[in-house]
Amino acid sequence: HKRPKIVILGAGYGGMMTATRLQKANAHHDAEITLVNKHNYHYQTTWLHEPAAGTLHHDRTRMRIDSVIDTKKIHFIKDAVSEIKTDEQKVILEGGELEYDYLVIGLGSEPETFGIPGVEEHAFAIRSVNSVRHIREHIEYKFASYNSQEEKHDEDLTFIVAGAGFTGIEFVGELSKRVPELCEEYDIDRDKVKIYSVEAAPTALPGFDDELVNYAMNLLESRGVEFLINTPIKEVKEDGVLLNNGEEIKASTVVWTTGVRGNAVIEKSGFEAMRGRIKVEKDLRAPGFDNIFVIGDCALIINEEINRPYPPTAQIAIQQSYTCSNNIKALIAGKEKLEEFTPDIKGTVASLGGKEAIGLVGSTKLYGHSASAMKKVIDNRYLFLLGGMPLVLKKGKLNFF
Ligand code: FAD
Ligand code: NAD
Repeated sequence: HKRPKIVILGAGYGGMMTATRLQKANAHHDAEITLVNKHNYHYQTTWLHEPAAGTLHHDRTRMRIDSVIDTKKIHFIKDAVSEIKTDEQKVILEGGELEYDYLVIGLGSEPETFGIPGVEEHAFAIRSVNSVRHIREHIEYKFASYNSQEEKHDEDLTFIVAGAGFTGIEFVGELSKRVPELCEEYDIDRDKVKIYSVEAAPTALPGFDDELVNYAMNLLESRGVEFLINTPIKEVKEDGVLLNNGEEIKASTVVWTTGVRGNAVIEKSGFEAMRGRIKVEKDLRAPGFDNIFVIGDCALIINEEINRPYPPTAQIAIQQSYTCSNNIKALIAGKEKLEEFTPDIKGTVASLGGKEAIGLVGSTKLYGHSASAMKKVIDNRYLFLLGGMPLVLKKGKLNFF
């Protein structure tokens, strides 16, 4: 009897956790399991604002996939997925193709540009180890080259962060801690450096608790961040941004954080999608497909209390991996009844750089050091779920004080 083929696309939160769950359940005895990922390492997307600003080395956010997954039990293929051919049950990779009986799509997200001109060409995005390494090097280069210019270009020391959602705010938090260090290192007056957080909505972190938002904005302003609220960006140019109100800001660095859409592979493969995300059934399968599961940022689930989509988070991706792996095991065992996924949102904690953070856990508001410690507990908890205490000790954030 031929073992069914399970193919997992993407080794992010959803994909890695699904693979480890299946490995722990010994599913490789009953099925041939393959994990496909662009890189031979797994990185923690939720930490990327730190290496982007240069406050943490990028190696701290990543780990080799074969250091976590037993590749004798789960085949690992390092390749990029270009398309899924659902009618042939095949995945087209850059360097080959793969057949599947069961597919898990966990390819994560891409920056949402809303079609705004110039974003692709002139702005940076916080989305992978490659992209954040580039941002860090670029920022450092702007500082390093400033004093050797005959005629100083002040826009080289102007940094624009487009979008003050959680990603934008977390990045600005790190950058505002990093800038004084860079000024010191490259003999630059702090007053020469400008950091703008530009947000279209009437407030930073729209929809989040007002008191926590005020705390974050006051703290960041005290570190020299300038907020431009109610200020949509209309275009990104080679030398800065054009705002809706007609003004221009000159800057050599624009980091684009105005939200995300599902991985382009989704739309390319012909799935019906909303901003690149598949609205999944309660059991996490793609509508119309009884063998395709979609998890993480590629999946759209609705919060029925407010009839709006849940924001895509690692928290949800991790929780979905449990339901997804259980459902695959059930299907392989010939069961028809599948589990339904219900997110259990514990809260939101966002770092503001250094030992500062804000958080809302249930109805409890957290500020400053206690929020920052909570953030580290959340980061370590994921490492624990993925690889137990050894991984926490190797890669965790253990500097609580
Ligand atoms: P990801 O974890 O992003 O992984 C996708 C994987 O697919 C990657 O390994 C990638 O290399 C791989 N891949 C992509 N395309 C291809 C391809 N074509 N072929 C092969 N492999 C491919 N959420 C929270 O819950 N809490 C937080 O505190 C938080 N903080 C965040 C901070 C930042 C700076 C950012 C950017 C996001 C944050 N999020 C947070 C959101 C969270 O990171 C995402 O929701 C989460 O990463 C989604 O998990 P995923 O498994 O869908 O995708
Ligand atoms: P987001 O959608 O949460 O925020 C994007 C922001 O950009 C919004 O405030 C929006 O008004 C603004 N914006 C949109 N177009 C603009 C324009 N043209 N000019 C200026 N501003 C514009 O996206 P995100 O911050 O990238 O986060 C993506 C997902 O990751 C979200 O689901 C978020 O909850 C999650 N996340 C969570 C955490 C955390 O829990 N600590 C951290 C980062 C990200």
